[in-house]
Amino acid sequence: MVDQDALHQALVGALGAAGVLEGDDIGPAYFEDISHERSGRPWLVLRPSSTAEVAQCLRLCHRYGQAVVPQGGMTGLVSAGVPIDGEVALSTQRLARIEEVDASNATITAQAGVTLQQVQEAADAAGYFFPLDIGSRGSCTVGGNLSTNAGGNRVLRYGMMRDLVLGLEVVLADGTVIDGTHKMVKNNAGYDLKHLFIGAEGTLGVITRAVLRLHPKPMSQAVAFCSLPDFGTGIRLLRYLEGALGGRLSAFEAIWHNAYQLVLDGVPRVRPPLPSKNPFYVLVESLGADPLHDGEQFEQVLHQALAQGLVQDVVVGRSEREVRALWEVRDAVSEAVLKLDPFLSFDVSMPVDCMEPFARDVIERIGARWPEARIGVFGHVGDGNLHLVTDAGGHATPRAVMDELVYDATRAVRGSVSAEHGIGFQKRGWLRYTRSDEEIALMRLLKRSLDPKGILSPGRVVDMV
Ligand SMILES: Cc1cc2nc3c(=O)[nH]c(=O)nc-3n(C[C@H](O)[C@H](O)[C@H](O)COP(=O)(O)OP(=O)(O)OC[C@H]3O[C@@H](n4cnc5c(N)ncnc54)[C@H](O)[C@@H]3O)c2cc1C
Repeated sequence: MVDQDALHQALVGALGAAGVLEGDDIGPAYFEDISHERSGRPWLVLRPSSTAEVAQCLRLCHRYGQAVVPQGGMTGLVSAGVPIDGEVALSTQRLARIEEVDASNATITAQAGVTLQQVQEAADAAGYFFPLDIGSRGSCTVGGNLSTNAGGNRVLRYGMMRDLVLGLEVVLADGTVIDGTHKMVKNNAGYDLKHLFIGAEGTLGVITRAVLRLHPKPMSQAVAFCSLPDFGTGIRLLRYLEGALGGRLSAFEAIWHNAYQLVLDGVPRVRPPLPSKNPFYVLVESLGADPLHDGEQFEQVLHQALAQGLVQDVVVGRSEREVRALWEVRDAVSEAVLKLDPFLSFDVSMPVDCMEPFARDVIERIGARWPEARIGVFGHVGDGNLHLVTDAGGHATPRAVMDELVYDATRAVRGSVSAEHGIGFQKRGWLRYTRSDEEIALMRLLKRSLDPKGILSPGRVVDMV
C-alpha cells in the first residue's frame, strides 16, 4: 500500500506546486488518448521541467512503489498512455525545449515534450529536413514518437523513428539517468541501449531528451494522386516508381475506395481530386534535389505509367498549394475515420502481396456479420502497413470479437498485429499472434531487469504473469 500522503508531500517538495496537478485541476486530456477506447483518472499529474526533476519523480515513485504512466501528446491509438485509476501520470509538457540544431553534425537535440511539428519547423528553419511525418504532427511529441517508434508517411524512404535517432537520454524506473545523447552514426561499443526504449511504450524508462538525425532539405517536391484498377497494379506501380524515380520516391500511400468515400462524406472541406469510382487511389510523392528538372521527370514517369496501364487517371500537384491539397486528402483519411462511432481501428503489417487478399477477406467477414458496417482501408503500402477501421455498423460490438476476426486473418498471413501504433493495453492479448513464447519471455526478462518493482506503465505491452 502506497503511503500517498508522504509521497504527495515529497513530490510537491520536488516539483513545486506548479509541477503537480491534482483533483479538479486534472482535465480530461489526461484521462484518454485519441482512440477514446479507455479512460482513467490519474491520482496526480506530474509536470517535471528538467531531467533532474523527472529523475526525482521516479526515484520517489520507485521508493513508494507508485505506478507511473508517461504521457506525451496523448495522440496514441492503443491506450498505452491512459492511466489506470490511481496511477500517477508523468506529463512531458514542460520538457518542451529544442536545445540545439547542430548544422555540422546535422542533428537536432530536443526535449521529450517538443512536438513533431516543432522539430520539423526547426529543421526547416536551419535548412534541413526532419522526415518523420504523421497526421498528429501538431500534438504528438518526440517522446511519444520514440516510445511508439512512429512510422507515418515517409518510412519508405527515411525509415521509422528508430532510424532517425542517434542518441537518447532516459530515466530508469529507479531514477537513474542514462545519458546516451551521442551524435555518432556509428557506435558499436557494446549494446545499442537506445533501441531498448524505442517502441517500449513507456514500460522500460522515461525518455527525456533525444538527438535526432536531420536530412538534407529536399529542393523539389512532386506529388500526384492516382486512381488504379486494382491492388496488383498498385504493387507494379510501386516497383516501377522505385526504379524510375531513382530513389526519390518518398511516399506511396494507398487509399481504398471505402476510405476515400469516408473522406468525401465526412470531411467536406476536401475537394476530391478524382471522382470516387475507382477501387484504389494512391498518393505518390517524390523528393529530390533538382527543382528545374525533377517535376518534369516526375510527370514523364507518370505518363509512362499511364501508357503502361499502371494508373487509370492521375492528378499532379503543380504548385505548392496544389501539393498541399493532395496531401490534405491523405491527412483527411485519418480525420474522417476518427468520426466513426464506435471507432474500431487496426494497424497491421504483412508482406505487400498479402495486403489485398487480407483486406478483401476481412471486409467480407465484417460485411457478413455486420452488413451495415462502414469500413475504411488505407495504408503505407510501400511498408506493408495497412490501417483498417470500422464502426461495426454502429453496434456496441465487443472489441475482442472484432479483434479476433482481424488478428486471425493477420496471423494467417504471418503478419504483425502492430505495424506502428504499438501494443498498449489494446493489443496485449494478441501479442502472441506475432511474437513467439521465447520472444515474450525475453521481453518479460527485460522488463523485470529494468523495472523490478513494475512501476512503469504496468499492464501495457507485455503481460507479466
Ligand atoms: C490523426 C492521427 C494520425 C496518426 N498517424 C500516425 C501514423 O501515420 N503513424 C504512427 O506511427 N502513428 C500515428 N498516429 C498515432 C500517434 O500520433 C503516434 O503514436 C505518436 O507517436 C504518439 O505520440 P504522443 O506524444 O501523442 O504519445 P502519447 O499518446 O502521449 O503516448 C504514447 C506512448 O508513449 C509513451 N510515452 C510518451 N512520452 C514518453 C516519454 N517521454 N518516455 C517514455 N514513454 C513515453 C506513453 O506512455 C504511451 O505508451 C496518429 C494519430 C493521429 C491522431
